[in-house]
Amino acid sequence: MTTLELDVIARPRLRLALPPEHRSSFIEQLLPLAKENVSMIVVMRSTATEEELNAVLARIQDHGLKGRVTCGEERNIVGVIGAAIPPTLREELERFPGVQEAVRITRPYKLAAREFHPQDTIVQIGDVVVGGGSFVVIAGPCAVESEAQIMATAFAVREAGAHMLRGGAFKPRSSPYTFRGLGEEGLRLLALARAETGLPIVTEVMTPTDVELVARYADVLQIGARNMQNFQLLEEAGRSGKPVLLKRGMSATIEEWLLSAEYIIAQGNPNVILCERGIRTFETATRNTMDLNAVALAKRRSHLPVIADPSHGTGKWYLVPPLALASLAAGADGVMIEVHPDPDRATSDGGQSLTCENFAALMPQMTALAGLLGRKSHVLVAH
Ligand code: PEP
Ligand code: MN
Repeated sequence: MTTLELDVIARPRLRLALPPEHRSSFIEQLLPLAKENVSMIVVMRSTATEEELNAVLARIQDHGLKGRVTCGEERNIVGVIGAAIPPTLREELERFPGVQEAVRITRPYKLAAREFHPQDTIVQIGDVVVGGGSFVVIAGPCAVESEAQIMATAFAVREAGAHMLRGGAFKPRSSPYTFRGLGEEGLRLLALARAETGLPIVTEVMTPTDVELVARYADVLQIGARNMQNFQLLEEAGRSGKPVLLKRGMSATIEEWLLSAEYIIAQGNPNVILCERGIRTFETATRNTMDLNAVALAKRRSHLPVIADPSHGTGKWYLVPPLALASLAAGADGVMIEVHPDPDRATSDGGQSLTCENFAALMPQMTALAGLLGRKSHVLVAH
């Protein structure tokens, strides 16, 4: 086994005990280094002197590499730029006085990598927290269809214990002849449902030019599977400053998914929630194949919260409860579930939507399993 493999197996080494309020400034401090494709970061002690810092920079230069210093409020960080990092460099630098630790960054994504940021990122949406050991349930119809439909669903899922409401106003549909959403009217209805129930709303944005409009209504911007590599959309959503729920593309690798998250964070927005929603495989018996490997691996490779969508992952309502529970067991920070008061009459994804009753029956099972797994409460203040 190589040193690199050993490194990956060991728990991430960087153990900066940063309080939550310092995390985004830590990301900000690392941003310029990520943009230079940094291969290693050297975290200086807060007490390190200028001579100690210069000695580190000189040693980096001796190896034919470049050192870049970023100064933070708490401490200075040196980024090592260059591909040919000697395998012993980390230990060498850690012996220098003034160095707290050195961490090799082996992934093409940087800001999304756990190597860069070992603590779980916690995304806060109103009173709801996503990540850091909590378990969050987002529920609602595939598409917002009418005031009666979204209100009935919102009240039913809140009653059952859901923490956020989902619903598409702009729908990406495979066929241009199917229902493509109510547009701004759908956003207005979602805002009404939030006002009535107190549930934060998650809704999809499909184009960069719609980001401003959708961000005016939504608490979380959803970027759909088909848009995972719409890089302008990722950047625009990043710039909006709103939390972003980033679905994995149906044919995207885990690395591509995390690189897409990187686009958002690189705009200075660390509030990204990853969402596994099933991938295309040779199997045709289900709409997609829920990739629970990806849930567990993304949690390990990245500090971002990861949720699972067993509705799109299976395409069949009766497979949603078992796969929701399996996602939780695999380490997901939450689930997103399609719920419709009358699935047979849904304008989209009726076959994979739970009735309000079936959703209400699933909630206590998820709560029981979450308790068994030692998950913490997902809400800061009860709604
Ligand atoms: C949805 O959430 O309704 C949706 C369209 O999801 P995806 O982008 O995963 O297909
Ligand atoms: Mn859907």
